[in-house]
Amino acid sequence: MSDCLFCRIIAGEIPSKKVYEDDHIYAFEDINPQAPTHVLVVPKKHVSGLKEAKVEDAELIGRCHLTAANIARQRSIENGYRTVLNVGPHAGQSVFHLHVHLVGGRRLGWPPG
Ligand code: AMP
Ligand code: ZN
Repeated sequence: MSDCLFCRIIAGEIPSKKVYEDDHIYAFEDINPQAPTHVLVVPKKHVSGLKEAKVEDAELIGRCHLTAANIARQRSIENGYRTVLNVGPHAGQSVFHLHVHLVGGRRLGWPPG
């Protein structure tokens, strides 16, 4: 989708700090990090969000989380991190291309804000 920010990042039309890429996934540093590690893990396929995901997207969503877990392992933050999907504007979703936030490297409060 040419008007989608994350599709344009995946296509290389908008610069990003790449963390990981494979056939299905692109991961990059969040531009406004909320923790020492704040990586966005996105499927290359455009899916607007979790609400819009279909059963055929299940493997892709799983891959996003497993990619986040691998990045967390590589960065030695396995004593505490979160994988977060913000769903809908009241939860703070601002980009409507599904993405998993990997947030860690500091103590994380609960409940989240
Ligand atoms: P959300 O608010 O859950 O939709 O997450 C969108 C995330 O994208 C936010 O954490 C933003 O900081 C991040 N973001 C927005 N534009 C860019 C960009 N050009 N490069 C990297 N991250 C971005
Ligand atoms: Zn997109």
